[in-house]
Order: sequence, then C-alpha cells, then structure tokens
Amino acid sequence: MANFKLTYATMFNPPEELHIGFDKAVATLKATMGKEYGMFINGREVMADEKFEDRSPINTDWVLAKMQKGNASHAQMAMEAARKAFPMWSHTPWQERVKLLRKAASLIEERIFELGAAMAMEVGKNRMESLGDVQETADLIYYSCYQMEKNNGYIVEMGRDPLVGFEARNVSVLRPYGVWLVVSPFNFPHALTGGPSGAALAAGNTLVIKPATDTAWIVRLLVDCFRDAGIPDGVVNFVTGPGSTLGQALVDSPEVDGVTFTGSFDVGMKMYQDFAKRNYVRPMILELGGKNPAIVSRNADLEFASIGIVRSAFGLQGQKCSAASRVLVEEPVYDELVARLKDLTEKLVLGDPTDRATYNGPVINKSSYQDFKDFTEEISQGGGKFLTGGHVRTEGDYGKGFFCESTFVTDLPFEHRLWKHEMFLPITTIGKVQNLDQAMAIANDVNYGLTAGFYGNPAETEWFFDKIEAGVTYANRPQGATTGAWPGFQPFGGWKGSGSSGKNAGGHYYLPLYMHEQIRTLVQAAPAKAAAAPKKKAAAKKAVAKKASVKKVAAKKVVKKAVKKTAKKKK
Ligand code: NAP
Ligand code: MG
Repeated sequence: MANFKLTYATMFNPPEELHIGFDKAVATLKATMGKEYGMFINGREVMADEKFEDRSPINTDWVLAKMQKGNASHAQMAMEAARKAFPMWSHTPWQERVKLLRKAASLIEERIFELGAAMAMEVGKNRMESLGDVQETADLIYYSCYQMEKNNGYIVEMGRDPLVGFEARNVSVLRPYGVWLVVSPFNFPHALTGGPSGAALAAGNTLVIKPATDTAWIVRLLVDCFRDAGIPDGVVNFVTGPGSTLGQALVDSPEVDGVTFTGSFDVGMKMYQDFAKRNYVRPMILELGGKNPAIVSRNADLEFASIGIVRSAFGLQGQKCSAASRVLVEEPVYDELVARLKDLTEKLVLGDPTDRATYNGPVINKSSYQDFKDFTEEISQGGGKFLTGGHVRTEGDYGKGFFCESTFVTDLPFEHRLWKHEMFLPITTIGKVQNLDQAMAIANDVNYGLTAGFYGNPAETEWFFDKIEAGVTYANRPQGATTGAWPGFQPFGGWKGSGSSGKNAGGHYYLPLYMHEQIRTLVQAAPAKAAAAPKKKAAAKKAVAKKASVKKVAAKKVVKKAVKKTAKKKK
C-alpha cells in the first residue's frame, strides 16, 4: 500500500517509493499471471463453457488471465440478479451506500500498485498513466459520495401551496432508476468503469458491468474491490465476452433502466438507436470519441505549446479520447513549433511500459496495429509527410507486441478525410493556418467536441474559450494541450458527437443523471374542529386588533395634547 496519495501534481514528480512499489508489483504479477477468473453474478463466481485468453499487447506470449466468454444467458442472469437486488439497495439509506463506496475507493487506493501494474501489462500504459487511471477511479467514486452528502441525498423541501383550509407539504426527491448498465472502453478501463459505477451505486441503482474484451482482467480486479468492500450480493454484477453478442444482449435486455456507455461513436450511436426501440425512453449517457484540436497562436509560448502538444498527442500512444489529434499553427511560428515538436518526439522512449524509462508502450491489439499501417499508407498517398515516425517497429522484443512510432504528419491537405476521422493511434496531423479565425473554423468543423487546447495571449484565450465547441478546454497548459482532466478539477465530457448528456463526469451536475425526480405533495385536509378554530382565531385576532387600535388612537391623542402643550409653552 502506498503511503502517499497520487495526485495530478505527484504524477509529474513522483516519489521514489512509487517506483519501488510499482516494480515489486510487476515482478509479483509476472510470476503469478495466467489464472482463471470468473464472471461475478449475484455474489458468485460464474464460469462459461467458452473461455478466452487475455494476452498482453507488450508481448503476446504473456497470458495475463483466462477469462469467460459470456453469452446472452449470462446477460440475462446478471440483469435478473441486479433487478432482484434493487429494492434492497435503493432502500438502503444513502449514508450507508456512501460508506460502502468509500470503503471500495479506499481498497482501490490500497491496491494501487497491484492494479497499476496489471493495467500497464494489459493496456500497455506507462506506469504513471496506469497509476493515474487507478487513482482517478478512487477519486471519482469519492466525488460521487461527496456530492450525495453535500446535497443531503438530493431531498429538497419545496414551497407550501397557499391553500385555505389545507396543509400542503411538497418535497422533491431524486430516486434511482433501477438496473444500470455500464459498458466501458479499453483505454481507461478503471476510471471509465469505476466512475460511472460509483455514481450509479451512490444514487441507489444496481449494476451490470461489461468491460472491453481487451481489458476484462483489470476490470475484474476492480470489481473485486466493490465485492471486498462488502457491497451486498447482486448489487454489482460483472460479465465478460464480446460486445457484439453479450454486449448487444445486455443493451437489448428488457431489464435495463439506464446505460452509461463510453466508447466509439459508431458503437455508441448504434446502441442509442437500438435503445430507442423500447416501449418508452430510458436514460443513456454516451461518452464517445474525439478529434481534439490544439491551436497555436503567433503569440504563444512555444516551449509550453510543444511540451503540452507532444504529451497530449502521444500519451497512451494517442489512444485517449482526449488526445491532441490535430494541431493548427499560425504561419509566423509554424517552422519553429514544428522543429520543437520533432525534437521532443524523438526523445520519447518506446518500449515495455512497465519499465521506468518508457513513455510509450504498444497499441492495444492486432487490429489497431493493422489500422496504424493502413492509415500511414493512406497518409503517404494523400500527400502527407512524416515529421516523426510513420512505421511500426518489429526488431527484437518489439516484434512480440504491437509497437508503433509516435507519428506527426505535416502537409496533409485539410480536405483529406483523416483530418476529421478519429484514428485513435499515435498519429497527429499538423496544419499551417493564416490566422486564428481559420484555425477556429477548421477546429470546429468536425462531428466531435470533446477537448481542445490553445496557446496564445490573454485576449486570445478569452476568444478561444468563447468560440471553441468542446466540453473540456485548456489554455497555455504545458502539462497537456488537450489531456489530463482530473476529477474535482476538470469534470470531463463532450459536446456534439462526443457526448449525449451535456454534463461532465466528475462534476457538479453528474450524479443527478443517475436519478429521476419525484415530487411528493402531501396534503392534509384541515379536520372539522380545526376548521372551526380559524374562525374563532380570526375573531380573537380582530378583537385584539380593535383593542390595539383603540390604544393607538388614545396614544395619538396623548401625543397631540403634549405637542400642543409644548407649542403653547414655546409661544
Ligand atoms: P468500442 O470499440 O466502441 O468499445 C467500447 C465497449 O463497447 C467495449 O466494452 C465493447 O466490447 C463494447 N461493445 C462493442 N459493441 C457493442 C455492442 N453492439 N453492444 C454493446 N456493447 C458493445 O471502444 P474502444 O475501442 O474500447 O474505446 C475507444 C473509443 O472510446 C474511442 O472512440 C474513444 O474516443 C472512446 N472513448 C471516449 C471517452 C469519453 O469520455 N468520451 C473516454 C474513453 C474512450 P468489446 O471490447 O467486447 O468489443
Ligand atoms: Mg488483451
């Protein structure tokens, strides 16, 4: 267990004990990997007839775990378990739910090295990014707990109707929907499973979780934290298997009351359309892709700009929804910025991401690796030039995994389709613009609106925030041009094709998305006796008022007399 708390600050300046703890965890996992893991339904381990091997993209000889290939019957089992547990969990006082969730979050923190090492081995993330994903998960869960507490369980006393002869009390209560489905992507397997799960559970929903097949193991280790925290059986259910079969069966299940899907635009939109074929509308929170621009003005600090852009273009091999995949540079500083980007990128270390010195690991799987080869070929044919990279690496140990070079592309005409298509790989296109208006027009001319970055002077940054169509925006940030949102600081979500709810995860407005409102109006007809009383009361009031006014008149007379007397004296 770590004796320090990983924050966005320590990410950039980690203490030595972090490295020691991480290295130890990698060694242990490498010696013990390959175990079989079940699905987790109704508090029980559930095995399927078919299994699949979860192999590492660093070295495909490494079998990390043997996982279950669940099917439609497992989808149904999990849904039924969640349905059965709903009355109990939704009626558990929110204070109790929050307590259990905080326990789960603290277990995640306790296991940060083990989870971070497994993350690096399964996703190919470097160690700091892996540990960051784990800590962010705990922080997202804590944040949902804090919101529940701060809002006192979302119970709000409303005004009282001005009814004569009745007592009317109105209370607004946010209540859970029921069974919530969380479908998560491979790239932030913990934060994007644990974050929505924490919110759904704090709100009182029960859960079915379906991770990306590429990251089934690491999400199972996260589910163990919920289990070990003592969350009751059936509240958190976990199934593994192909999205196209098991995932589809979950989405089509009549039991689902709400969904959080984080993944690609195409899968998300299909899900949305399928979900609309129901007998009534249910909530669906979609967090989808991005094609995030970084704009560099002629007034920018080019050192900050180049560091921030390289981090955001190639962190996690460009496989972040927030990756800086387009760079738009004003002509007067184009040559200098491009030279700096080349220089910094050539210093990035590609290799086994469990090694301390490595910045870039492999891409997630064979299909992404093939995509890299196809896109770079298409770019060459489309007139693009490789400022850096452009190739996969196969020599030595690289040949065992899916290693691609960090690739900056220049000279690709703005009309080329890859200026608008999310490649989700370490490929970023750089374009020269005549002025900032042209940059903004290009930046906004895409289906997406997730993150965006800018480097320029103060007046320009105001202009940027106002004009850019994106949910998460940064100016003059060397820590990352478009990446690196942290719960409680930069709530994360997208506009346009990047997200459906218009409210960002880890922010003020997120938790209520998991609840529907109920107004409770309770009217009490005034009883007969009590009904007579007001008349008596009114009469009594009248009498009192009369007395008072008599007194007032008398007092006035006294005052008048006194005034007259003094007036006489003065005269
Ligand atoms: P993906 O291919 O869309 O898969 C996401 C999840 O959906 C996986 O669990 C997948 O399972 C499942 N799935 C696939 N088809 C399904 C279906 N018909 N029904 C139900 N589930 C189905 O995305 P990915 O490659 O894992 O992740 C990359 C994408 O996620 C990128 O587009 C990225 O921008 C986006 N993303 C967005 C955010 C955000 O916050 N906006 C954050 C991270 C990532 P299988 O793995 O078994 O196919
Ligand atoms: Mg794998």
